[in-house]
Amino acid sequence: MRVVTSIAVMQRLARQWQRRGVRVGLVPTMGYLHEGHLSLVGVARRQVGKTGKVVVSIYVNPTQFGPKEDFSRYPRDLQRDLKLCGAEGVDVLFAPRDAEMYPGKAEHRFSTYVIEEKLSQGMEGASRPGHFRGVTTVVAKLFNIVQPDVAVFGAKDFQQAAIVKRMARDLNFRLKIVVAPTVREPDGVAMSSRNKYLAGDLRPQATVLRRSIEAVRRAVAPARKPVAAAKLKAVVRQVTEAAPAARLDYVEFFDPETLSPAAKVSRGTHMALAVFVGNTRLIDNSAL
Ligand code: AMP
Repeated sequence: MRVVTSIAVMQRLARQWQRRGVRVGLVPTMGYLHEGHLSLVGVARRQVGKTGKVVVSIYVNPTQFGPKEDFSRYPRDLQRDLKLCGAEGVDVLFAPRDAEMYPGKAEHRFSTYVIEEKLSQGMEGASRPGHFRGVTTVVAKLFNIVQPDVAVFGAKDFQQAAIVKRMARDLNFRLKIVVAPTVREPDGVAMSSRNKYLAGDLRPQATVLRRSIEAVRRAVAPARKPVAAAKLKAVVRQVTEAAPAARLDYVEFFDPETLSPAAKVSRGTHMALAVFVGNTRLIDNSAL
């Protein structure tokens, strides 16, 4: 496996591959890799085949963190990530530095961003202003640098995947976006680099997200008519309030294609929620 930190070198490699007709799969991550990330690597490999190249990018993107968020303490362990990627058959680990990704930013000379204006309004976008502007900008940059034929994203960040798909379509990025299922711990908690923050009795309380989804499912499945979203939000509030360290940030019911909020919920409606467990903000989502 080759480790590349220079954008120029990565672009040169990408151009060589393109000239030789080699298929390229990209898995963008912020590192501190877990089984969820590695499952995306497997999907990328299946997409490009044995003769293709799989690139994993590791970059903790500062522009997608709010000023009061966890950018500086976000877990990082490049040596460990390197071993995991090597064992998983990754061809290139691309780990650029801030100075290269955002040239002149400290002196206010970086001034171009990509903004998706519709799908990014609600949920994570409402709760984390500027977050998706950072995501679409860095993902567009990674697409330009790596020139992938396929990019793989996790359903764990459902809204993000929808926004990236919209951006790729709207801006004519010539690639396929694949969304891979959420990988979970044995107790149902979605794997996340942020789970590392959950010390002691906080970790078991992280199951409130999964339990909220299950409680909603139990309410929706037997109903003969669509159920009012307000009623289901109350169910989720009840589940989250029962965990002493949990605080519900939002819960939303929506159409999985348009992300438009649904006032009435039935099977096939999607739900997403964000919950603070202690100081750690966790998200999860599922079709109902
Ligand atoms: P992150 O490093 O958190 O930015 O995540 C990088 C990519 O991995 C994103 O496309 C995420 O949606 C995906 N991902 C994160 N956690 C999981 C998980 N538990 N299962 C599947 N994909 C995941």
